[in-house]
Amino acid sequence: MLSAPSADREGNVRQALELADAGCEILRVAIPDKDSVALIPAIKEACGLPLVADIHFDYRLALESAAAGADKIRVNPGNIGDGNRVRQVAEACRTRAIPIRIGVNSGSLEKHILEKHGHPTPQALVDSALYHASLLEQCDFTDIVLSIKSSDVGVMMAAYRLAAAQCDYPLHLGVTEAGTRRIGLIKSAVGIGGLLLEGIGDTVRVSLTAPPVEEIAAARDILRAVGRGRGATVISCPTCGRTKIDLMGLAERVEDALERCELPITVAVMGCAVNGPGEAREADIGVAGGDGCGLIFARGEVLRKVPFDKILDALLEEVEKLREERNA
Ligand code: SF4
Repeated sequence: MLSAPSADREGNVRQALELADAGCEILRVAIPDKDSVALIPAIKEACGLPLVADIHFDYRLALESAAAGADKIRVNPGNIGDGNRVRQVAEACRTRAIPIRIGVNSGSLEKHILEKHGHPTPQALVDSALYHASLLEQCDFTDIVLSIKSSDVGVMMAAYRLAAAQCDYPLHLGVTEAGTRRIGLIKSAVGIGGLLLEGIGDTVRVSLTAPPVEEIAAARDILRAVGRGRGATVISCPTCGRTKIDLMGLAERVEDALERCELPITVAVMGCAVNGPGEAREADIGVAGGDGCGLIFARGEVLRKVPFDKILDALLEEVEKLREERNA
């Protein structure tokens, strides 16, 4: 989600480009007023990523955003007024094949739903999302995506599980108000990653109280952790008394060097030959540290022994060979 002030068109474009460069696949921008609708063509032209217009309450902004080229509208139909307004928004989106994302969270529940459930239970959240969806369904509009977020990871997971069981709409996963970098990443990893491992979820957003580029890095790491990422995965051991090389530094350098590697491979960086070779054999490429040196493995075979300061180069050479083989 872009976080530059809405009035700052250049700032938003700059941030969109930065996020695209970091691997973002879908952008969302807040459209709080008429002037900010102009952000939509500006951002789309600059970076070409699908763009979601985030609207609250004003159906006219949804209509204008659809006309301005938004690829998805995030709006809750129950918050935009009478049925005629909902119908106009549904119609504007239908004619342009634009999906609508409904987003509910613990703080946004309707009075009648809160009264029924007492507090924001998982089922209350799902009921709220399905209530908003029903308003669109009444307009024969079903190109709907649901997000049902909570800052409580257990509630969020239970709600998405219920939603997956109770409807066929695609689900956009997220833990809302997850917090700052560290705790936010952990909560998101548990909630989003856990659901993805259960086969639930179609798109994700990591919400951090941090620059949005860090949300992209966090999302990428979560996807990698559950085997849904792109590019290289680095596995590394925690080190122990047997480690005789600077494995922590090496693992970080390998991770940095492979940050943009698009090959779907696993690279193992292991501290010693006790467990290292076994793990490294499972990986596409690996190193097991020795005394000031490393044994390089590729596809299960020991290739050679190299001095410590040549380990990174040797691993990258093997990655390159693998790339050539796969491209051949
Ligand atoms: Fe220790 Fe070797 Fe295991 Fe790393 S791989 S934790 S150095 S035994």
